[in-house]
Amino acid sequence: MDIHEYQAKDLLRDFGVKVPSGGLAYSPEQATYRAHEIGGDKWVVKAQVHTGGRGKAGGVKVCGNEHEVFDAADEMFGKKLVTHQSGPAGKIVYRVYIESGVEIERELYLGFVLDRSSERIMVVASSSGGMEIEEIAQDQPDTIIRSVVDPAVGLTEFQAREIVFKLGLDASHVQGAVTTIRGCYRAFRDLDATMVEINPLVVTSDNSVMALDAKMEFDDNALFRRQQIMELRDKSQEDLRETKAADQGLSYVGLDGNIGCIVNGAGLAMATMDMIKLAGGEPANFLDIGGGASPERVAKAFNLVRSDENVSAILVNIFAGINRCDWVAEGVVQALQSTAMDLPVIVRLAGTNVEKGMEILENSGLPIATATTLAEAAEKAVTICKSGLTPPTIAAAS
Ligand code: ADP
Ligand code: MG
Repeated sequence: MDIHEYQAKDLLRDFGVKVPSGGLAYSPEQATYRAHEIGGDKWVVKAQVHTGGRGKAGGVKVCGNEHEVFDAADEMFGKKLVTHQSGPAGKIVYRVYIESGVEIERELYLGFVLDRSSERIMVVASSSGGMEIEEIAQDQPDTIIRSVVDPAVGLTEFQAREIVFKLGLDASHVQGAVTTIRGCYRAFRDLDATMVEINPLVVTSDNSVMALDAKMEFDDNALFRRQQIMELRDKSQEDLRETKAADQGLSYVGLDGNIGCIVNGAGLAMATMDMIKLAGGEPANFLDIGGGASPERVAKAFNLVRSDENVSAILVNIFAGINRCDWVAEGVVQALQSTAMDLPVIVRLAGTNVEKGMEILENSGLPIATATTLAEAAEKAVTICKSGLTPPTIAAAS
């Protein structure tokens, strides 16, 4: 789960990480009020959206008076911010954060990730941070500092110092940077995060080390024991289709094509998408019904996939081990009978009770195209999609 910058800063502050003073606003009036509350003569208005790259997309504005704060906030509210990280759909701005503007002396990069090969938390740092970090990582990979933390001892003062020295910070900034690094590590570990990123970590002209941006991601499977994190969830930033599916206990991944996929298991989902692409089509999504799916669950999955308006055909691909093909078939029939279906449906079943499943589909009298292999199913889906065939003619075509 992702959270907003202001929420990450609130959490990190409790772990001793220094951040500029700031306040949240839901309207331009409130933004001006916040600026007044914070005081000073320079503020930064920052769109709170679950994506990075806001600076380059107009989501971060430096302001010199309260009118500018009002205008910057007014401009951002309700706007769809499309950044190089957000995907073409972008994210809508409903909240802005007003922060004290600081004089930046140096920008650095500090990140914490789970390193799967060592099965440990790894610190990733770079002496050149800021908005160009992606290019730096690509063009000068040798300048990236990596340090793996031993969970038995945690991130020690000594290890943090070593990172700070490699970053080439002045002696007067060492303690501030060490406190930041260790604070972020403890927040990562104690809150079950999967990622903490401070970009930029800055040295200010008045010699303090501060986090100017903060991004945190959390392990969904640990949220049950982190109620305070769960409460930070902002559904307005999530893909509506994925949220709806998650609420019904289904895993859904939204994509950009037009063939909706109902499968069981992530591996089969990948294979199905590969086959669709190989046949010249594009998947619109995939929905994993998991193991032991009841007809009701399958029907729910079906309704979810067809509620996506990008979908112009639905491909059901089930390899039943724990699942039962007859239950899946019943679910498909139930879903098709409950509402008039205007989309072509292609079903490929294999495994447990496959004959019974096929029989249910055939006896239903519904215009369902069937296939015995995955390749055949994918080809049919793509051909039907491209030809724009309507349901009654499909059964004849198959
Ligand atoms: P993003 O990573 O989404 O582009 P950041 O929070 O990193 O957003 O902001 C982009 C840039 O704006 C930073 O690299 C920094 O140069 C500047 N900036 C952000 N917050 C402040 C602040 N409080 N004071 C001064 N400059 C800031
Ligand atoms: Mg940033």
